[in-house]
Amino acid sequence: MLIDNFNRIINYIRVSVTDRCNLRCKYCVDGAFPFIPHSEILSYEEIIRFVRISAQLGVSKVRLTGGEPLARKGISYLLKELNNIEGIDDISLTTNAVFLGEKILELKDAGLKRVNISLDTLKKERFAFITGVNAFDDVLMSIEKSIYAGMNPIKINTVIIKGFNDDEILDFARLAEKWGQHIRFIEFMPFGSFDLWDAATIISSQQIEETLKTRYTLEPSKSNDRGPARMFDIKGSKGKIGFISPVSTHICSECNRIRLTSGGKLRPCLFSDVEYDVKKLLRSSASDEEIKAFIRETVKVKPERKGEMGQIRKCQRSLRNIGG
Ligand code: SAM
Repeated sequence: MLIDNFNRIINYIRVSVTDRCNLRCKYCVDGAFPFIPHSEILSYEEIIRFVRISAQLGVSKVRLTGGEPLARKGISYLLKELNNIEGIDDISLTTNAVFLGEKILELKDAGLKRVNISLDTLKKERFAFITGVNAFDDVLMSIEKSIYAGMNPIKINTVIIKGFNDDEILDFARLAEKWGQHIRFIEFMPFGSFDLWDAATIISSQQIEETLKTRYTLEPSKSNDRGPARMFDIKGSKGKIGFISPVSTHICSECNRIRLTSGGKLRPCLFSDVEYDVKKLLRSSASDEEIKAFIRETVKVKPERKGEMGQIRKCQRSLRNIGG
């Protein structure tokens, strides 16, 4: 079992399979947008080996992310192989859903049961403005196809940013009500080197909750499938609302994860730029035991908690690089 210095059990790995993305979301992509060369991106075989070794240490949950994971060819192959690893019992995917509709059946065949979709607006023109791509209809179609394919649950993640989309909070709740799915509001986090993030652009979970309560009755959800979110049932509907509040509160005591970046760095904490190069080991003649020892050491340096709201340091890299 992997246990850090603060007695947290680490059983979850987020794997970024690429730093490439088909969207250019204004708050995520840095101006220059340089890519890691293909040869520096972990191969599927390297990822599979890493996850197999991690599973032997007690990791049971994997999330594939990016960049945009569906922008990398052969993702169904990876999913299938990871599903076959003994000890891995939960694999999920985080996607912007532009390509999801066309791939959902193949992904389902490979073992995908649930999906997280990032969507920050319900307005077609605004979607094109935020992402730089006119693909809103593709995303909606993907969501419908995913519901039809039986993905359960579908969690729609929305980053609310002042002046960007904070006028759509109630519209998102209406969607959760209509579709009977989960909408999770995520606080805008301090990533990337551009200037958009500052305290004035953050809308806290509490502010969002207050807006929702003007129209809806939210009851604390009894479901245990909540991850880092505080979940609520919308009274009179199957829909659920979640709040993920990494900026205004500490969810660190419940943190059970580490991240593997597409370039092969192991990142013990999202909010710290400290990373360890596991690719070097995977590409040397290191044994599984040596890689296990490396993972154990990395987990040991996981910090107890991030800084307070006013003191959070901006991370050097955007979430596209780290794997959001
Ligand atoms: N392309 C995939 C997707 O769209 O879900 C996975 C990677 S993307 C970087 C993951 C998530 O990170 C998206 O939901 C995006 O909105 C979120 N994200 C990016 N920058 C963020 C920030 N500064 N604060 C909070 N969330 C952010």
